[in-house]
Amino acid sequence: MTTPPHSALIIDGVALSQKLRADVTARVQALKARGITPGLAVILVGENPASQVYVRNKVKGCEDCGFHSVLEKYDAHLTEAELLARIAALNADPAIHGILVQLPVPKHIDASKVIEAISPLKDVDGFHVASAGALMTGMPGFWPCTPYGCMKMLESINCDLKGKHAVVIGRSNIVGKPMALMLLQKNATVTICHSATPDLKAMTLQADVIVAAVGKRNVLTKDMVKPGAVVLDVGMNRNDEGKLCGDVDFEGVRQVASAITPVPGGVGPMTITMLLVNTLEAAERSANIPS
Ligand code: NAP
Repeated sequence: MTTPPHSALIIDGVALSQKLRADVTARVQALKARGITPGLAVILVGENPASQVYVRNKVKGCEDCGFHSVLEKYDAHLTEAELLARIAALNADPAIHGILVQLPVPKHIDASKVIEAISPLKDVDGFHVASAGALMTGMPGFWPCTPYGCMKMLESINCDLKGKHAVVIGRSNIVGKPMALMLLQKNATVTICHSATPDLKAMTLQADVIVAAVGKRNVLTKDMVKPGAVVLDVGMNRNDEGKLCGDVDFEGVRQVASAITPVPGGVGPMTITMLLVNTLEAAERSANIPS
């Protein structure tokens, strides 16, 4: 009798999102009963096709859960001063609890100035330095949605991070660095790898948990993964056929990992779900309701 090949548990981001969004919808109803409707403003500057899809999905997610949502679209010639003025107005608008400016913004606009202009109380993307500082120091604040979604995925499979070695590949401010801090907060021993890491495989082979957030296909292959490791794939790339794929060689790695996220249908849907959670919590905090 031959042993069937090992295949990892697939962590289904669509199913987990549905579960979390049902909880969000129930909490939105409870808030509405108290006269508060959570409101998200999404600002899009320019015609970037990928950004158009992202903002559409974010607004749809809001509508499905009963939020109030506002989509403000501006052409690429909007000045930085005009954008900052819009953010100031939204900061002062009591119907808006979360503000998101879809990145990237056109080159003549300084993205960091824009992020810092958003009130930390409405920074539901979690990109403001106050949010980054809160995460760093373990204070309450908004966590960036993508790594927050990854943490929820680990929680969903009861992955106890205490004493585990987690390797994060990528060190961006929106994914890699906050991911590492969240894993650290849950008592993992964390290694952060990046483009200057000389021997990535030597690092990943030691890992119990691997998060790939690079933006390059096949950064993580089967030979780089310790049997039984949990693998989260944040990457969003296109394969030769133009289909969406991640950073991980899914078919190879699933043969050695204990659990793995697919692309599509993994981390992607969780990102918008956590944006909804953050916006809901911003509204709850504005009403002094503990989240
Ligand atoms: P980013 O800002 O471009 O950062 C990429 C990181 O990967 C950098 O830290 C870079 O190192 C590192 N890197 C590049 N080549 C490497 C290599 N060969 N080995 C090890 N590290 C390497 O990207 P990001 O914004 O973090 O996004 C990463 C990926 O996640 C992208 O595909 C993006 O589309 C995707 N993403 C998905 C979601 C989602 O919802 N699913 C959300 C956000 C992002 P250096 O710092 O040394 O340059």
